[in-house]
Amino acid sequence: MYTEFQHHLRKELADISNAGLYKKERIIISPQGAEIEIESGQKVLNFCANNYLGLSNNSELINAAKKALDSHGYGMSSVRFICGTTDVHKELEQKIAEFFGTEDTILYAACFDANGGVFEPLLAKEDAIISDSLNHASIIDGVRLCKAQRYRYKNADMDDLEEQLKLSQAQRFRIIVTDGVFSMDGNVPPMNQILELAEKYNAMVMIDESHSAGVVGKTGRGVTELFNCRGKAEIITGTLGKAFGGAIGGFTTGKKEIIDMLRQRSRPYLFSNSIPPLVAAAGVQMVKMMSETNELQDKLHANTEYFNTEMQKAGFDIKPTQSAICAVMLYDAKLSQKFAANLLKEGIYVIGFYFPVVPKNEARIRVQLSAAHEKEHLNKAIAAFKKVGKDLGVLN
Ligand SMILES: *Cc1c(COP(=O)(O)O)cnc(C)c1O
Repeated sequence: MYTEFQHHLRKELADISNAGLYKKERIIISPQGAEIEIESGQKVLNFCANNYLGLSNNSELINAAKKALDSHGYGMSSVRFICGTTDVHKELEQKIAEFFGTEDTILYAACFDANGGVFEPLLAKEDAIISDSLNHASIIDGVRLCKAQRYRYKNADMDDLEEQLKLSQAQRFRIIVTDGVFSMDGNVPPMNQILELAEKYNAMVMIDESHSAGVVGKTGRGVTELFNCRGKAEIITGTLGKAFGGAIGGFTTGKKEIIDMLRQRSRPYLFSNSIPPLVAAAGVQMVKMMSETNELQDKLHANTEYFNTEMQKAGFDIKPTQSAICAVMLYDAKLSQKFAANLLKEGIYVIGFYFPVVPKNEARIRVQLSAAHEKEHLNKAIAAFKKVGKDLGVLN
């Protein structure tokens, strides 16, 4: 059997490669940070990590993790409800609820699991899920695992959302689901309008704050802070793998009864291992740091503002953004790849995205800003963008 299958796979892989879509890993030999060292020995400035607050190599988090390694050991060898729950897991769940102004939290091994395990235990075929067309893949997969009726609205389009809400009125329960930040444009959904529509058409609201937690809002509490509606969404999901230290782990936080039901029935929680105590302990430390100082958020916001302004001044076409994601539009797929390759030669590591990751003829470089970036890093990146932009005829 395998010979035939092997032949089939080799052909498919060749097709992926010929279409220029073959993904390779770039090997890094230093800790994650503003400046990283790659396998070739080249040092580059990193503008493509989700390390928004620069916590991936933060000494306070490392110390908290080391301490927990001594006090609680390495692994749990169990799912949560058998013997995989420590005092540190419970403390982190409570801290996350405090952070978002919610009632309770359940931890998962990843946000992919949080989203994969949130719909099926809560909703049935007489219910409706109304989902933004640009929601993350894990939300799409989670919705697929649930028998509820599916409605989709155009990205952040409130007229279309209203239309879908009208169409779903016959269903028993309704939930609107949206990302807090859409990762390719960096835009945020109008949460105030979504909540108004939810009220008008009797729906609940779920927000995936993976790219917005720690980033959006003055104190980084996410889109519910930005729109002054903390505690209004019934469900928030998020990750510990981006701004929150960048290690591993996800969570669902929200109404008490919802979290309680997830502990009874959510399959990735019931059938997958607990996060290690050292990761939970670093998470606790992370939330503590954020309640004591707003330094990192302030620096991230200043960096984002500075970069966007300077890039626009230089003549680049930047998508409107309310996050730490800055999409530099090039439109042409080949150009985006060439642009990223030339930037790497200048010591700037970014990724060029093109169809099918973004719509056809909307190729771009996605820049992700971080509180770890210093002014000199930003200036070096802007200068490199200008140089490559001129070399490739994007700027005159
Ligand atoms: C990154 C991301 C996830 C997945 O988070 P992991 O913890 O890495 O599994 C889920 N949803 C959104 C919107 C994300 O950006």
